[in-house]
Amino acid sequence: MKKSKSPDNTNPKIIKSTSNLKNFKNLSRKERMERTKKFSEQYRITEGNSFELKKYNTDISFDTDAEDKSLVAETLQLGVEALATMQDILYAQDKWSVLLIFQAMDAAGKDGAIKHVMSGVNPQGCQVSSFKAPSSEELDHDFLWRCQKHLPERGRIGIFNRSYYEEVLVVRVHEQLLQSQKLAEKLITKNIWQERFEDIRNFEKYLHRNGTVVIKFFLNVSKEEQKKRFIERIEDADKNWKFSTTDIKERGHWEEYMNAYEDLIQNTATKDSPWYVVPADNKSYARIVIASAIINALDDMDLEYPKVSDEKIAELNEVKKALLNEK
Ligand code: ATP
Ligand code: MG
Repeated sequence: MKKSKSPDNTNPKIIKSTSNLKNFKNLSRKERMERTKKFSEQYRITEGNSFELKKYNTDISFDTDAEDKSLVAETLQLGVEALATMQDILYAQDKWSVLLIFQAMDAAGKDGAIKHVMSGVNPQGCQVSSFKAPSSEELDHDFLWRCQKHLPERGRIGIFNRSYYEEVLVVRVHEQLLQSQKLAEKLITKNIWQERFEDIRNFEKYLHRNGTVVIKFFLNVSKEEQKKRFIERIEDADKNWKFSTTDIKERGHWEEYMNAYEDLIQNTATKDSPWYVVPADNKSYARIVIASAIINALDDMDLEYPKVSDEKIAELNEVKKALLNEK
């Protein structure tokens, strides 16, 4: 049994084990779905005012015995299957779209989480976009522009690997980056970050009112775990490509990033566009939380396959009869 790393910072609300998924095997599929769906609610922030990052664990006590491992695999499988079914309906209905935003420090497992959770989903109904340091063309526009171009069409799930939230993270931590945006001096006010939060809130509200459900994930990895993963990337030749020396520079600004994350969650977590603060030191656990959160959101959307009119059904029956009578 692994112990939680920071017991002093523990929020009593946060369940720190998979105990609520125990005895899973004895449950019906419907009950298992219900439990999987509810599992992520403990990490959801819908109202940011009193949010304190230090109360959210990066790690959870996690049984490493075989039973727990198979439980994790089973839950994830259920999540992946449910997601695929719901995505199929989303696509058929062609009414709503879903935008999933992933933000994290380096090596927190964004790429792996996206890959695993979306593994059962039809690639036609899903688009992943990654946002790196902006190009000169992108810098010639407002900070939301490049992300707007990649918003999901109706019926699709869009995934942002990093996003416009970088504006209130890396740009805030390295304020000189604001200069490269060619903004007029008078636009860089002393309230610039509050203004950015307001713009993001309004943008997400706008998306919501236009049929896009926005869900945001912060993969909350600890500084110790990041160190371990960086060392792995250096020691394992096949992982060398994943390591960049700028990652180490950013690690040096850890506290500033954590403060920036806390502030942005306080200012942009809403009922319609919640943040999930996902414990990310254990990759499997993080993936279950993410799968669960997506199912939860899709389930709330009351998805159903488009209804076919009586005339259409009669027409289909005629066609079937003709096909069966074909010589
Ligand atoms: P990986 O390292 O797993 O390949 P990554 O998302 O870290 O994925 P990188 O190319 O290493 O990709 O890093 C992208 C970098 O671009 C990050 O350091 C990020 O902070 C930076 N970046 C993203 N958006 C902006 C922005 N608007 N302004 C400045 N830098 C940005
Ligand atoms: Mg990187």
